[in-house]
Amino acid sequence: MEVRSLFPAHMKKTKIVATIGPSSDSPKMIEKLIESGVDVFRFNTKHGDVDWHRVRIKLVKKISAKLRQPVAILLDLQGPEIRIGKFPEAEIKLECGETIVFSQEQSSEKTIIFPNKKVLQSLKKDQIVLIDDGFFKFQVLENQGKKVLVKVLCAGILGSRKGVNLPGADLDLPSIIQADLEKLDMAVKEPVDFVALSFTRSREDIQLLKKEMLKRGVRAKIIAKIENKKSIDNFSQILDEADGIMVARGDLGVEIDLYQIPYWQKKIINQCRELGKPVITATQMLQSMVNCPKPTRAEVSDVANAVYDYTDAVMLSGETANGNYPLEAVQIMNQIVCYTEDKRGSSDIQAKTDTSLKAIVKGAFNLYKGMTAVNDNVKAFVVLSQTGTTAKMLSRYRPEKPIIAVTESIETRNQLLLTYGVYADFLHFPRGNIHSLRMIFQDLVKKQLLAKGDLVVVIKGKQWKLPDGMSTVSLETIVF
Ligand code: PEP
Repeated sequence: MEVRSLFPAHMKKTKIVATIGPSSDSPKMIEKLIESGVDVFRFNTKHGDVDWHRVRIKLVKKISAKLRQPVAILLDLQGPEIRIGKFPEAEIKLECGETIVFSQEQSSEKTIIFPNKKVLQSLKKDQIVLIDDGFFKFQVLENQGKKVLVKVLCAGILGSRKGVNLPGADLDLPSIIQADLEKLDMAVKEPVDFVALSFTRSREDIQLLKKEMLKRGVRAKIIAKIENKKSIDNFSQILDEADGIMVARGDLGVEIDLYQIPYWQKKIINQCRELGKPVITATQMLQSMVNCPKPTRAEVSDVANAVYDYTDAVMLSGETANGNYPLEAVQIMNQIVCYTEDKRGSSDIQAKTDTSLKAIVKGAFNLYKGMTAVNDNVKAFVVLSQTGTTAKMLSRYRPEKPIIAVTESIETRNQLLLTYGVYADFLHFPRGNIHSLRMIFQDLVKKQLLAKGDLVVVIKGKQWKLPDGMSTVSLETIVF
């Protein structure tokens, strides 16, 4: 009898990240979202205080343990985000062409409060200021020091506390704010798998975050959010320093021209893939599902196209955080991913093989390709990967078959939840660094990830957990 995977929703190759919020933080909903294909829960610390996040991170871990279904936690730090203050009447009406004031204090004129003095001081004549995802546009007329006169370029009703974008401006704001440090303090007691840094501008921003994490003993992987012009300009150094990338199309689409987004999405995904660093395609993927149980055709195509781009993960934000149809959004996203993966052909990549590990991994992939040309019996790759590096290097080739990464590290198992095509299996090796393929295969069959008679391509070293110890590629049949 051929037995196949325990969790079909999770054997998809493209991972799903869902943002948790008031629409999705009940135990029942978290359970349903995990069962429907969520691999990573994102905690957006722009909203909610430390306790809100702590309680829900604990809850997700508890439910994941109950379901025996690993899910990872991504803590998304606010970073140097600029927001306007509160209006006395909660909102103000803006007329096209009128002159109003940006200031730290309310004045007798129509005022938008800018709490950050540095931001106000930086505004120069003719500069364009965008508020609320770019829906409101202003042109600076005159900076008078305490107040800045601006011309309203489009009419509408503007609410309090909305985000501000200053396209092209080079502001010297700290990359990590006090609220971020408090979230990192929380992550000491309540460990997370990934920390994302908003508005990353340079390698130094990541290095500073690393320092703060090291100081506290937070061992998560760092995801750099690409969401402004600076992060595009400095992308190579940011990618080199970070462990993974998020194409944060929300702010990116305000900071650069919208029509450039697909170009940068594809370019960033390809560069991440070449280095074996996970990349998340994020924001407005199924946006209309915040209010409607069905997505638009364009949204369905957007998710499918990210799969065609070979992204590691696709992400839901408002759809699951505060939308009316969080479960439906995950279910539909999962359907699009599974169907598209099934129909899409394979893709070749000229991945660098400048280390012996990469050369060995390429050898394994070539063996797989050679075998599939003879027959279609290879069911999976089995990779002994303590740090996850070997699995990530293999994932660069985006093979059609799953990569089962056997690891004795819970940390690695969780962090691989963001890597394309990898199913990480935790296995305890009772004899220290001695491994036995028989024991590994028995475990994988018991967990119904493989079945007797399956052919697999194995990558392993002579001994378990030796750094740079990968040395053997073999074709094995599951028999015992
Ligand atoms: C984005 O801007 O696309 C994004 C993901 O960031 P946030 O949701 O934190 O604004």
